[in-house]
Amino acid sequence: MRWSLLLALAVVLGAAAPAAAQLPIFDAHIHYSRPDWDAYSPERALSILAAAGVRRAIVSSTPDDGTLKLYEKAPKSVVPFLRPYRTRDDMGSWHRDPGVQAYVEERLKRGIYRGIGEFHLSAVDTAAPTVRRIAELAAERELFLQAHVDDVTIEKLLTLYPKVRLLWAHAGMSASASTVGRLVERFPKLWVELALRTDVAPDGALDPEWRAVFVKYPDRFMVGTDTWVTSRWEIVRDYHRAVQTWLAQLPRDVAEAIAWKNGERLFSVTAEEEQAEKRSRPAH
Ligand SMILES: [Zn+2]
Repeated sequence: MRWSLLLALAVVLGAAAPAAAQLPIFDAHIHYSRPDWDAYSPERALSILAAAGVRRAIVSSTPDDGTLKLYEKAPKSVVPFLRPYRTRDDMGSWHRDPGVQAYVEERLKRGIYRGIGEFHLSAVDTAAPTVRRIAELAAERELFLQAHVDDVTIEKLLTLYPKVRLLWAHAGMSASASTVGRLVERFPKLWVELALRTDVAPDGALDPEWRAVFVKYPDRFMVGTDTWVTSRWEIVRDYHRAVQTWLAQLPRDVAEAIAWKNGERLFSVTAEEEQAEKRSRPAH
């Protein structure tokens, strides 16, 4: 009886907890792709992120116009990455498609992008022509590559293209905490985002192996949502509520690094973005 009362009180207090108790979030994995455009206007999509505590987000989209729609409205909140997919059909063939290479080279002329990706790739295709060219462009322009690949493929990419900084999407989706820790130790140009990795905190309790890796390499991890289908936009807020729960189980400095400081450091707002933000939001 007493327990249930305490529980009810905790739920009420939890629900009423001020937003200030939450850490600001840098979300390293957002898409605003063609099917999303009709369901959510750019303003609505940006307000969903803001309501979830997301201060800034890496955005990439199929096609890239989706990213530009958000970036134009909020240049200080969106970190644009150029996705090498004109349509979803490019997903399986982009790595050897000269048309994709031309698309990427043309779009990069805008000069706004901080990375190329998210892309999918198999270990056997890491040296394919379009991958080579994209890695070359990334090295020249100091862009990140955001790769949704397994642990074998990320290791090959890091070895083949040692000048390029890699952002490993979903921590390889199924790679274990110890595998991720080993790769982060070995490759100083590897950063990792944790979108969809519910194994980090099953049932809300931070997994001890992940915790050990986060505490050892606090400057190498970021959180992310992955709005890979339109319905994901509905859960952004709940998703980040769950993220805040496990972040709160880390030492404060580690939690802050993973929540937003790593993203802020790696992708600091440019002078052009400061100016553009002022133009897009004139003072009243
Ligand atoms: Zn994705």
